[in-house]
Amino acid sequence: MTLQLPVLVQTPAHSNLGGALSYESDTAHPPGTLVRVPLGQREILGIVWDTLEEAPALDPGVRLRSIAAPLDGVAPLTAAWRQLVQFAAQYYQRSAGEVALAALPPQLRELTGEQMARRLKKHQGASADKSSSTTEKSSLVALTTEQQQVLGAMADRTGPFLLFGNTGSGKTEVYLRRVEALLSQDAEAQALLMVPEINLTPQLEARVRERFQHWGEEAIVSMHSGMTPAQRLRSWLLAHTGRARIVLGTRMAIFASLPRLRLIVVDEEHDPSYKQQEGARYSARDLAVYRGRLEQAQVILGSATPSLESWHQSRSATDTDRGGRYIRLNMPSRIGAGSLPRVRRVDMNHQPRKTIFSAPLLQAIRERVARQEQVLILLNRRGYAPVLHCAECGWKSACSHCSAFRVFHKLDRTLRCHHCGFTQRVPRQCPACGNADLGMFGRGTEQLEEQMTQLLGDSVRADGAGLRIARIDADSTRLKGALEQQLAQVHSGEVDVLIGTQMIAKGHDFRRVTLVAALDPDGALFSSDFRAPERLFSLLMQAAGRAGRDARLSLAQGCEMWVQTSHPTHPLFDALKQHDYVSFAEQQLKERQLAGMPPFSAQALVRAEARTQEAAQAYLSAVREAGEEIVQGLQAEGFPLESAPLSLYPAVPMSLQRVANVERAQMLVECPSRPVLQAFLARWHAQLHAIRASHRQVIRWAIDVDPLSI
Ligand code: ADP
Ligand code: ZN
Ligand code: ZN
Repeated sequence: MTLQLPVLVQTPAHSNLGGALSYESDTAHPPGTLVRVPLGQREILGIVWDTLEEAPALDPGVRLRSIAAPLDGVAPLTAAWRQLVQFAAQYYQRSAGEVALAALPPQLRELTGEQMARRLKKHQGASADKSSSTTEKSSLVALTTEQQQVLGAMADRTGPFLLFGNTGSGKTEVYLRRVEALLSQDAEAQALLMVPEINLTPQLEARVRERFQHWGEEAIVSMHSGMTPAQRLRSWLLAHTGRARIVLGTRMAIFASLPRLRLIVVDEEHDPSYKQQEGARYSARDLAVYRGRLEQAQVILGSATPSLESWHQSRSATDTDRGGRYIRLNMPSRIGAGSLPRVRRVDMNHQPRKTIFSAPLLQAIRERVARQEQVLILLNRRGYAPVLHCAECGWKSACSHCSAFRVFHKLDRTLRCHHCGFTQRVPRQCPACGNADLGMFGRGTEQLEEQMTQLLGDSVRADGAGLRIARIDADSTRLKGALEQQLAQVHSGEVDVLIGTQMIAKGHDFRRVTLVAALDPDGALFSSDFRAPERLFSLLMQAAGRAGRDARLSLAQGCEMWVQTSHPTHPLFDALKQHDYVSFAEQQLKERQLAGMPPFSAQALVRAEARTQEAAQAYLSAVREAGEEIVQGLQAEGFPLESAPLSLYPAVPMSLQRVANVERAQMLVECPSRPVLQAFLARWHAQLHAIRASHRQVIRWAIDVDPLSI
């Protein structure tokens, strides 16, 4: 007998072939089975799915094609995994086929059945010895009281938990103990540990491997975009077959096939890199909470500076508010009584104009390095001097393809656009007026490094050697392994002063750093993006957390965080001085509530790109009009639009309006109720496709649910 089976395949984005396609089969492959199916002239990977619900109606005359072959030896994906994909597709308004196939390792899509069989054989070595002993108790540190309390709460309740723990309070130790507890209770249980950027946390991977090495080589696998296709396939297969007990990965790992998932940890849960910025723009953190509930896996979100969303979601109940869904657990103390740095503000209004390093900061740096302590200098821009400029006629090094300025890179004397990559040699004279004396605006890490070298050139270390200054940013770490090597130099004490972008502020456990300086953080105070202060605060708190990690050093010498600012009395810096995330968060949340912004409302953005701004906006205006009609319909259906009004804002140019000669515009939809917004988006989505058909000038459009930058 011939059956008809729904099969998900990777359909082109926005082709509106969202759901599964129908194929004939002689065998009743269960849902979740990986199969190869013909599509057009090709044979591609598909997944037998549960329903056809989203599939377009077939013409009665069309003959169904047959499934070519199942991928033998690979067990079907679980119902929970399929549900996760279905939910993510629906919530983020993409097709299930796109989300599902993108979540599988690329090689799975490319290998033939034969090649696959060979791979499987290769990975079918002796299974890890699951009965083996737990970690030697004697090699474990004694837990602090706070760690014990937190672990006690996690043993008693299901969560999800927000672990609000200071930098260096021992959060990682809590994660590892929880992994140990859950995985030794159940010989098949699996844990997912997520980190923002794997390159920045090589120490975590080393710690996890060391702690759990008794489970065998295959028990711990990584998943991130820096791996080769072969490595990714290996990790995926080990997780899918249950041989891997711990998956350590970046946001993509949220879609790992883990048949017996019992724990999900999202470390540094506030980090923006958990949000995917293309394709299905999912938040791996939010999906972690969903997946945890779906699979009854415990979820731990950890941070010293939680996202305001998670903070709000973990508020306690009051008389008028039933509180958030997360359980907040606190670990305020740093291990070994290491103190947080004293925060010192330098009022740049009282410094000579164009001062880069104020005199007191320079003096402080000299003293630190003379004692062989280390200094971190944080600047949130890369390149030498962001903009080349002519004082005669006002010419600036604008990119001719983007609404952005090109950045001067001293090393190869080029002007480079950081958005489209357009690069030219630095002109000898002003292209507009011929003036040969071109100047700089602003400054970047490269210039800082040079300045620092000049200013501190005469300083020596305690051992008599010259001072060593290093720079870490996206430019200096482009080569593979460069970042690891540079970080190793910092750890080994070869480097005295480290200059860098936010890359240096995250997660590192530099033992000898006693002074951290932020040179020019003011831009974020007045940004048009309402999340800019939240990001700045968390960056500065993280940076401060890099200082004084060695309690002996910090007790002996005291450690400091310096902020050079023209707005020293800004409340954000007051809160920083007190290391007071709580009051900062409460104040920000109050402002957000008054303004009706997230987390007090849910948002979605539609973005459109076209050759002209008019064309991009015309499309958005049309979809806005269609949206207004949907709102009327929802009202008629009885959706509570009085208490949760849905606002459709007019189209505006994006803050970076033009990139590579393409104009960009966006429109915002906002609603205090997430379910109402979701109901709206579900109806609106088809319209976005339909209207596009009559706006041929639109090159691309995309929808971003819960956007992180506006
Ligand atoms: P966090 O993740 O909160 O920044 P970590 O877990 O990395 O903190 O802990 C900071 C340092 O303290 C690490 O070097 C870790 O090995 C150490 N540490 C953690 N817990 C303890 C403990 N209970 N006793 C002693 N040292 C600990
Ligand atoms: Zn450009
Ligand atoms: Zn000029």
